[in-house]
Amino acid sequence: MSLKSSKIIVIKIGSSLLVNENKKIRKKWLASLAKDILKMRKMGKKLIIVSSGAIALGCIKLNIDKRKLKLDKSQAVASIGQIELMNLYSNIFSKIRLNVSQILLTLEDTEERRRSLNAKRTFENLFNLDFIPVVNENDTIATSEIKYGDNDRLASRVAQITNADTLVLLSDVDGLYTKNPKLFKNARLIKKVENLNVELKHFDFKGINELGSGGMNTKIEAAKICRLSGCNMIIANGLYENPLNKIMTHKNYTLFISKISKLDARKKWIISSISPKGELIIDDGAKKALKSGKSLLAAGIKKVNGKFNKGDHIKILDKSNNECARGLCSFSSQEVLKILGHQSKEIEKILGYTTKSEVVHKDDMVEI
Ligand code: GLU
Repeated sequence: MSLKSSKIIVIKIGSSLLVNENKKIRKKWLASLAKDILKMRKMGKKLIIVSSGAIALGCIKLNIDKRKLKLDKSQAVASIGQIELMNLYSNIFSKIRLNVSQILLTLEDTEERRRSLNAKRTFENLFNLDFIPVVNENDTIATSEIKYGDNDRLASRVAQITNADTLVLLSDVDGLYTKNPKLFKNARLIKKVENLNVELKHFDFKGINELGSGGMNTKIEAAKICRLSGCNMIIANGLYENPLNKIMTHKNYTLFISKISKLDARKKWIISSISPKGELIIDDGAKKALKSGKSLLAAGIKKVNGKFNKGDHIKILDKSNNECARGLCSFSSQEVLKILGHQSKEIEKILGYTTKSEVVHKDDMVEI
C-alpha cells in the first residue's frame, strides 16, 4: 500500500530534524511539514506524529550539552523540554488551524494488553475530535531497564496499536544503504525490502547512518515489528522541506513491505511485543504441532531461558535457536522448569494445584 492510499499514517520525527547542528530550531521546516499534514488531513487520512526532541529542546532551554547528560538528569531535562516541544508543535500547527494533543507512553503502556487498548481508544477519540496526537516516550519516568530509549521502535508499536497502514520514519539520510554512504562512494540506497529476514541477513548495520538515539539498527527493529503487524514502513530523508509531499512525488526512499496479515488485533499485539521476558526451546515434534496450529504442551519443551511470570510474553525457539513463534505463557518460568518434558496429565500432581494443560495456548500464540 502506498502512502497515497494509506488511511492511518504514523510519522516519526527525530530530534535532528527539529534542531540543527547549531542548536537552532527548524521552525520553517516544521511549518512545511504542517502544510503536508494539512493536505493529507484534507485527503481524509488519520495522522499520528511520534516526535523526539524533549531532551534536545530541554538542553537548549538550559544551555547544556546533551552528550554530558546522565539518565536521572536527562529525565528532568526531558520534563523541561517536553513542554517546549509541545509549544513548538502547537504554535506552528495552530497557524494553519491544525489541532495537536500530547500522548506520553512508556514501554509498559504498550506491552500490557489492557493499557495498549486504552491507548488505542484514546487515539481513536482524538481522530474523531480532529486532533493530531503527538506522541513521545514518557522520558521523565522511564528508567533504563523499562525504556524504549528510541522513538523508532516506539513509533512501530504505536503503528501496530492503531492499526496503521504506513509508518514513515523521517531521518537525516535518504533511507537504508548497503554501506555507510558517508564513507563509501559505492554505497547503494536499498529502495524496497520485501522480506527483511532474508534480504538483509548479510548486512551489518552497526555504525551505518548512526543518527539520533536509534541509528539504523532500531529502524530495522521497527521494520520487523511493522512487517509482522501488517504495516508498511518507509525510511525517508526529512531534511527537505515538505518531506511528506516529497515522498508522494519522488521515489527516493526505502520501503519495507509488510507481510499480508490475517492476524486479529490481539495476535498482532502478541507478535510485536518488543520485550519478551524469556524463551522456551522446543523439540521437533512440538515444532511440527505448532506449525499445524496446535498449542504448546509441556512434553515438547526442552529448555527454559530467562525468568518470567504467568501471562508474560515469551519467544518459542526450535533446537537450532531459530524463533518459530511468540506467545503468552500460561505458566511462570519456575513452573515450566518443573513440568517440562512431562505429559499434561501429570502437571497437576507435579505442581500440586490445578492449572491449564497447555503451556502456551494456540489462541495466545503466533507462529513466525
Ligand atoms: N524521547 C527522546 C526525546 O524526546 C528521544 C528518543 C529518540 O531520539 O528516539 O528526546
